[in-house]
Amino acid sequence: MSCQPAPDTCFAILDNLPLGAFVLRRDFSVLCWNTLMEDWTGIQRLEIIGRSVADFYPHLAESRYADRIRPLFDGGPSVVFSSQLHHRFIPTSFPNGRERTQHTTVTPLHAGDEIHALVSIQDVTDLTRLAKNARELHAQALREIEERRKAEAQLKLAASVFASTSEGIFVTDANGLILSVNPAFEQITGYSAAEAVGNTPRILKSGKHDQAFYAHIWNSILKEGVWQGEIWDRRKNGEIYPQDMTISAIRDENGFIRKFAAIFSDITERKKIEEQLRYLSMRDGLTALFNRRTFDEELENEWRRAVRSPVPLSLIILDIDYFKFFNDTYGHQDGDRCLRAVANVVGTSVRRTGDLTARYGGEEFVVLLPMTAAADAAGIAEKIRNNVMSLDIEHESSKVSSVVTVSIGVGTIVPSREKSPADLFRMADYALYTAKSEGRNRVVSRHED
Ligand code: GH3
Ligand code: MG
Ligand code: MG
Repeated sequence: MSCQPAPDTCFAILDNLPLGAFVLRRDFSVLCWNTLMEDWTGIQRLEIIGRSVADFYPHLAESRYADRIRPLFDGGPSVVFSSQLHHRFIPTSFPNGRERTQHTTVTPLHAGDEIHALVSIQDVTDLTRLAKNARELHAQALREIEERRKAEAQLKLAASVFASTSEGIFVTDANGLILSVNPAFEQITGYSAAEAVGNTPRILKSGKHDQAFYAHIWNSILKEGVWQGEIWDRRKNGEIYPQDMTISAIRDENGFIRKFAAIFSDITERKKIEEQLRYLSMRDGLTALFNRRTFDEELENEWRRAVRSPVPLSLIILDIDYFKFFNDTYGHQDGDRCLRAVANVVGTSVRRTGDLTARYGGEEFVVLLPMTAAADAAGIAEKIRNNVMSLDIEHESSKVSSVVTVSIGVGTIVPSREKSPADLFRMADYALYTAKSEGRNRVVSRHED
């Protein structure tokens, strides 16, 4: 572009630019001043042309600008700087604005032999604000996308847990109608999703629990929001099974219950193991009869029961004769085998519920006979003694017989508050001691007069 010194030509060109523009000579006197500059600064071109711009627009003459502009008059390059419109002009040109951001470009303008400076000022405040808004909108959109992605990932995770967990899950509406079930539910209960959906969980009822049990569950859910416990249900094939269940109420944002979700696992196997462990903890490892601890507990229980309805309670204690010699002669393994055989005789000698047989220690066994008089107990003891002999287990080092024999003491007592299980035990033990001292392989009974 070429600008003639004639100001009118300059005005014509510059007035049509969407920029504030003016032309400076080397001495910073103004050559052209366009309409937008008039608007922004309130300075009319007739006032300023021919005068130093520093008189009107002082900051342009400051060295931080002036020093960069000056080389341009000697063929230096264009200069670009970002600036704020001088506060002095703001009330005039932008009554509502506070800060204006402007890009100022100073370009060499060749006019014949001379170089002038064309200063063009672009007000980018609005652009800056737009760009800032756009950046914010963009960031906001990114955040929303990220949140949606997270929510979707959560949903996906929930869905995959629902589909792949080994725990049965079903969801009902507020009325208890099943809305959805997962594959584990189908597997555990035997009901397909199609069969379960639309039904109530009552299809799973085992009949093992009473009304009060279910009422308690509902109370907990409504009060605490959740119930957790063991419950027996029925599979489609009729089989009843135990399960660990958690039922939760799902409320909406207003606190109203909208759904119930139940998650459960079949604990049949766990129950079996628990039962096995309980069985093992009560039994003697070698003979599978009850152990001493269980016997002592049961004796206490039986004693308390018998005190309430005074009937005789009998106790048999038996001990294998010369068993140490047996071990010494035949070895420990045969000794164990012998113990098992005698235990079997003891175990099968009684059949009434409440009778209890146990291995009390080493080669001593006990039989508790509730509601059994002394004569009956002695009869059972005699039968045991005979049956042990009938086992016909060789015992060449015994001093009473060529086969394994037992000595038996029987005690009988009518339990009362004045007496204790220990009295019964002492009585039977003393009878056993008597049987031993009178020559072994015999039954001795003791009872109250
Ligand atoms: P008595 O005729 O006076 O009853 O004499 P005994 O040798 O039978 O009695 P003692 O109490 O002296 O010995 C009991 C033996 O029982 C000692 C021990 O070696 C044996 N015994 C205890 N527990 C076991 C067991 O679990 N296995 C085997 N094989 N032997 C056992
Ligand atoms: Mg003994
Ligand atoms: Mg013995």
